[in-house]
Amino acid sequence: MLGNFMYCNPTKLYFGEDSLAGLNEELPKYGQNVQLVYGGGSIKKNGIYDKVMEILKANGKNVFEDAGVMPNPTVHKLYEGCKIAREAKADLILAVGGGSVCDYAKAVSVSAYCTEDPWEKYYLQMKDVDNEIIPVGCVLTMVGTGSEMNGGAVITNHEQKLKIGHVFDERVYPKFSILNPVYTYTLPRYQMVAGIYDIMNHITEQYFSGEDDNTSDYLMEGLLRSLIHSSRIAVKNPTDYEARSNIMWIATWALNTLVAKGKSTDWMVHMLGQAVAAHTDATHGMTLAAVSMAYYRFVCPFGLEKFKRFAMNVWDVNPEGKSDEQVAVEGLQKMEAYMEDLGLTMHLKELGVTEEMLPGIVESTLVMDGGYKVPDKDEIREILKNSL
Ligand code: NAP
Ligand code: FE
Repeated sequence: MLGNFMYCNPTKLYFGEDSLAGLNEELPKYGQNVQLVYGGGSIKKNGIYDKVMEILKANGKNVFEDAGVMPNPTVHKLYEGCKIAREAKADLILAVGGGSVCDYAKAVSVSAYCTEDPWEKYYLQMKDVDNEIIPVGCVLTMVGTGSEMNGGAVITNHEQKLKIGHVFDERVYPKFSILNPVYTYTLPRYQMVAGIYDIMNHITEQYFSGEDDNTSDYLMEGLLRSLIHSSRIAVKNPTDYEARSNIMWIATWALNTLVAKGKSTDWMVHMLGQAVAAHTDATHGMTLAAVSMAYYRFVCPFGLEKFKRFAMNVWDVNPEGKSDEQVAVEGLQKMEAYMEDLGLTMHLKELGVTEEMLPGIVESTLVMDGGYKVPDKDEIREILKNSL
């Protein structure tokens, strides 16, 4: 049964090969000062930087550059960005990049005029925003996180060995996002497949929870089938527009909050992956891939009905003559084979994790309670050990 909910997603999207022109529609709505946020330089190599700059100049904007946002943006970079925003008196923060750049832009937008330490306020204490928010717009270049249409902003504190996501309310969602599938063609294969698995995991985190009959579960099965189909094409031919555009759109729907409305969700794979990243700084999607099979095999007996449904409706497992357990296990085997085919990192060792690091990673794992079995510390350690 659907629970009570409020649904509002205020992000305006421009999608397709010609979508950058949407910037001309949006920029006049904001003041002169634009903080241009980007990462380590991929946008300079593939020409997106020049195209964006041309439009910013044509619209008479003063551009304040804020470059060097790293994958898994850090709290130190956040403080730096807040200073730039205040000095520039930024009227708009324009993020051009992947989830890290978009997340960081949102974190700066709520932190620049925060009178407390934003790490303390938004990440350790999870308080709501009660100060000025600088509007954010995004030009997406990497697909996976859904950050282009949600309020999530994940920040890493390496000193405290914590990587935490705050999901901010609709005031912090990007005001607009530009989604051009062609911009993702230059992604290295490693990042492309990591992003594809991030999408898959966003969906399964929301699917593997609850026992009710819920419209969202049917939507998610459709999204997963489309993702599996398109990703198999995209890894063979990265410039297949049909596949890349479908993947981009699935990523947005997977985490623009719609499919979570009125139902419970899990998110433990993300909690484990973020703890791993806090100790290794590894690529987000790969941290999720490395812990997923051990986690799902742990939780499967507690949510058997849903795992059986997943096997049949997503992986076309034929249930005839098989027990529920056999069907569920076969579904997970098919998922594992798909992940291996994609070339995902299936073991934590490949990300630099050693057995000695496990107690620290257990300590860094925040526990969510929406899944079929809330793991205790011993179980978390066992899941991590089985992921090595
Ligand atoms: P990312 O960290 O933004 O980017 C990964 C790498 O891809 C960077 O090195 C980047 O290089 C490169 N890149 C991006 N676009 C490219 C392109 N078109 N061509 C070539 N290289 C390109 O990756 P992401 O997976 O999108 O974001 C990960 C972060 O988002 C993590 O911190 C994760 O925890 C967070 N996250 C957020 C949410 C949410 O709801 N908001 C959900 C899941 C995860 P450059 O730096 O040189 O551009
Ligand atoms: Fe994610």
